[in-house]
Amino acid sequence: MIIVLKPRTSEENVRRVENLVRSKGLEVHTVIGEDLTIIGCIGDTVRIDPRLFEVDKSVEKVMHVQEPYKLVNRAFHPEDTIVDVSGVKVGGGHMALIAGPCSVESEEQVIAIAKEVKAYGANMLRGGAFKPRTSPYSFQGMGLSGLDILCKAKEATGLPIVTELMSADYLDIFDEKVDLIQIGARNMQNFDLLKQLGRTKRPILLKRGLNATYEEWMMSAEYIMASGNQNVILCERGMRTFESYTRNTLDLQAIPVTRRLSHLPIVIDPSHAGGKWWLVDSMAKASIAAGADGLMIEVHNNPECALCDGGQSLKPVKYGKLLGELRQIAKVIGKEM
Ligand code: PEP
Ligand code: MN
Repeated sequence: MIIVLKPRTSEENVRRVENLVRSKGLEVHTVIGEDLTIIGCIGDTVRIDPRLFEVDKSVEKVMHVQEPYKLVNRAFHPEDTIVDVSGVKVGGGHMALIAGPCSVESEEQVIAIAKEVKAYGANMLRGGAFKPRTSPYSFQGMGLSGLDILCKAKEATGLPIVTELMSADYLDIFDEKVDLIQIGARNMQNFDLLKQLGRTKRPILLKRGLNATYEEWMMSAEYIMASGNQNVILCERGMRTFESYTRNTLDLQAIPVTRRLSHLPIVIDPSHAGGKWWLVDSMAKASIAAGADGLMIEVHNNPECALCDGGQSLKPVKYGKLLGELRQIAKVIGKEM
């Protein structure tokens, strides 16, 4: 249930209505926007008669929210949320340009790639230190020493770092060192892990699960927000379909759909979607044209020898050329990159 207050309601009156809501056993989540103040009511609202609030002098209207996700819901927060990743804004017209190798392989590799992608205009560096691999015999990532390499690359370039957290055992160290904590597709419904994320204020990049519906994805974001961390960025990375020619099928519709359902920023990962480097260019362009709040792209300086996902990685120079072209598209739709 959401309560929309009358324009220019005083702070005192906002607090009074909030207390009225709390007195009914509900939690409040208030969003004071430029034009509207909305009090989101969380809890068992089905049994509550909206007229209880409608009679209040400061209340404009009361609406039931049909969807099971509340904090994530655009109805609760009509304006786009802008997530701040260590000074880089994402959402509301600000773009996340995340680039880097699939996996951290060595200090030389990561620092060289970080410098190149930064020179081309990337504003965050990605790199997997803990890798969720299908086979236990595949390279599993460098672990904590990989994380240290990412920190060195951050020192060398100033780029905030994005890397995947697979286990809550490492949350404290990620909280200390990682600017944007990625929750991978395979862990989108690891509810215990999601609940732990309230222990950090670091922003979370929540990838869509391999077969997740929009509602399941939004509910996973709701877990994170309900645990106390409001800084969530959604990431579409392709779904599993009957098609096997491409690694996954990029769901471009996820952009307008999530923007309608939610106020959270939506970033596209065209690398894991198609699984082929030559698909990245066109899918990245289509994503920006469709209104994405950014892109996460795998870039490797020697993809032929990459320990993971070389076949879907762009060489830095190709990434640079792509960003140049994306800037033109962004301009047409009134965004800056
Ligand atoms: C990744 O980005 O490194 C990754 C493993 O992606 P996903 O979880 O989308 O497969
Ligand atoms: Mn990868």
